Amino acid sequence: MNILENVSLKNYNTFGIDVKAKAVAEIFSKDELKEILLFSEFKNSKKLVVGGGSNILLTKDFDGLVIKNSITGINIIDEDKSTVLIQAGSGVIWHHLVLYCVDNNFGGIENLSLIPGTVGAAPLQNIGAYGQELKDVFFSLKGICVNDLTEKYFNNKKCEFGYRDSIFKNELKGKFVITNITLRLKKNPVISLNYASIKEEIEKLNLQNVTIRDVSNIVCEIRKGKLPDPSIIGNAGSFFKNPEVDIFKFDELKKDYPDISGYNMDNGKIKLAAGWLIEKCQWKGKRVGNVGSYSKQSLILVNYGGATGKEILQLANEIKNSIYDKFGIILNEEVNIY
Ligand code: FAD
Ligand code: NAP
Repeated sequence: MNILENVSLKNYNTFGIDVKAKAVAEIFSKDELKEILLFSEFKNSKKLVVGGGSNILLTKDFDGLVIKNSITGINIIDEDKSTVLIQAGSGVIWHHLVLYCVDNNFGGIENLSLIPGTVGAAPLQNIGAYGQELKDVFFSLKGICVNDLTEKYFNNKKCEFGYRDSIFKNELKGKFVITNITLRLKKNPVISLNYASIKEEIEKLNLQNVTIRDVSNIVCEIRKGKLPDPSIIGNAGSFFKNPEVDIFKFDELKKDYPDISGYNMDNGKIKLAAGWLIEKCQWKGKRVGNVGSYSKQSLILVNYGGATGKEILQLANEIKNSIYDKFGIILNEEVNIY
């Protein structure tokens, strides 16, 4: 296994933050993962697993071992008349898995097309977009405990999925490395068209008998037009989660801001669009030094070049403060901060 020392992490995070790690090791299998976790030199070091680095903000040098996950493989492990179980290695690029499923007409993740990053990070925040969430097709996962190298199995319930949340983002954060995940997908896909932008596009193209490939293509096109490409402008997608409020708070806000939108959630709360709140506080498209809120999607904070993680964090805190002052709402970070 190749272990690099004193490495810049600029190419390991999509914000493009140039901090250093004491060491970086790339692993291609579960056995290599165990091997590196057993390595005596790193026994007592801090460890950070990264996939695509598209949901992290690095605010300082990492005094430990970064494990770059490249565990590959996509396999059908079981099927019946209507569903199929697909297992994917945690280092597989998420969009490659989506394309594999679209090519085989296995439905359930086509609305999640073009989300950057790897399969293994997807359960962490129960990735979601355009009305689909990982938890709706998630069957199980396996992984290794960092401390004692035991292998553990999690079914859907044990993952404690929530809105952009799971057990792996909470009590197991940094303690468990996911090595593969299994999804249950439909052989006769049901198209999910709840989001206005997808519906509008289908009408515009006058598509009949819409397929999951159509949906995937549409989602890719919308995303390419609206989201900053991390290879050009550093970013980690939405910086904050959409906040949830109760109906009383929503009614109160609606009186002052009749144009506010709210979406009913399974837990009885109402989800507000964090991007709308940020826009109302005049942050959309605003640049402060090397950082800013993206002009086409205010929820995305960007590195225009040369920014430090601390600069991004400072902007995030200023945005949070102004939202609290104006609306009395606390935004929580979606991005994992180190
Ligand atoms: P990383 O950033 O490498 O890691 C994220 C966290 O997961 C870290 O804490 C890391 O330690 C941990 N981790 C990574 N791999 C493992 C593993 N194998 N085992 C245990 N822990 C692990 N997210 C959405 O939900 N929906 C979207 O629509 C969406 N759009 C995006 C658009 C853009 C332009 C960008 C840049 C990001 C977007 N994201 C979106 C966020 C991000 O792509 C997802 O959260 C993605 O799942 C992160 O994958 P990653 O491999 O890059 O994770
Ligand atoms: P949008 O369509 O402008 O909508 C703004 C917000 O309203 C979204 O955050 C979305 O919540 C919510 N929303 C819109 N229609 C909804 C509906 N029918 N039912 C429930 N909620 C609805 O959003 P966008 O910025 O262009 O993003 C489009 C999709 O891509 C969203 O699902 C978004 O989550 C996803 N995305 C995520 C990231 C990330 O890093 N997490 C980055 C870019 C895009 P949800 O966010 O809960 O869907």
